[in-house]
Amino acid sequence: MILFQKSKDLQAFIEQKKSNNLQIGFVPTMGALHLGHLSLIRAAKKNCDIVVCSIFVNPTQFNQISDLENYPRPIENDIKLLMEVDCDVLFHPDVNELYGEDFTKDSSDNYGSFIHVLEGKSRPGHFDGVVTIVAKLFRICKPNKVYFGQKDYQQCLVVKTLIERQFSSIQFNLCPIERELDGLAMSSRNIRLTIEERKLATNIFKAMDFVQKRWEKENWQLLVKEAIETFLGPPFQLEYFCVCNKDTLEELTEFESEAIILTAATLGKTRLIDNLLLSH
Ligand code: AMP
Repeated sequence: MILFQKSKDLQAFIEQKKSNNLQIGFVPTMGALHLGHLSLIRAAKKNCDIVVCSIFVNPTQFNQISDLENYPRPIENDIKLLMEVDCDVLFHPDVNELYGEDFTKDSSDNYGSFIHVLEGKSRPGHFDGVVTIVAKLFRICKPNKVYFGQKDYQQCLVVKTLIERQFSSIQFNLCPIERELDGLAMSSRNIRLTIEERKLATNIFKAMDFVQKRWEKENWQLLVKEAIETFLGPPFQLEYFCVCNKDTLEELTEFESEAIILTAATLGKTRLIDNLLLSH
């Protein structure tokens, strides 16, 4: 695996590979890699000649300075994991390399109403930060194909819109959520859970699974209420558990056979997000 820390070195490498007609796959991450991230690299490896993973904890997408400062950064272990899955290139720039002194964000304001709900509402400015960094990374890496996880479903809609508007030659690939055996979605933040919180965290999946298994027109609203009451009472601090249209993220007011549940809940100091597609 080749490690680049400077944009211009990665750019020169990519240009050379592309001039030989090789397909570049790109997987942007913030590191603290787990099997979820590695599944994206594996998917990219299957369909591309050269796979680039970036590890960069992007300051402009954090709302709380403490979350940014406490974000795990086990780079040595990440390098080991990337080598195990035969990743070709790691791009690991520092903050100055990507931002210099310019921390202004691109705007995602006019991407559609889905920008302002759920994560967009809970974390003001978050998607502006995502659009800013993803656009910067796309310009440097110039990938043919990119791989993102359904775990961050709303982010996927944002990135798809960015691609439609500014990078139309890039092919977007959505990869399924990797889960622990008890259903908890893998996340770099899971290591912050205490033993007790980790046991309880499975309830997030249980609540969504409860709805998924019973998804039908009759009593669908009561079903959602029952899932929340059964699985997500205290000590969960539930921010949202919404059944939405999968394209617009508008909360359903009437039954739709295809939909998605999206949820965010905090346990102790750890905020967890997850989602599950519904179909009848
Ligand atoms: P992050 O490092 O959290 O920014 O995530 C980098 C990429 O990995 C994003 O596209 C995420 O959606 C994806 N990802 C994170 N967790 C999972 C998971 N459990 N399963 C699949 N993809 C994931």
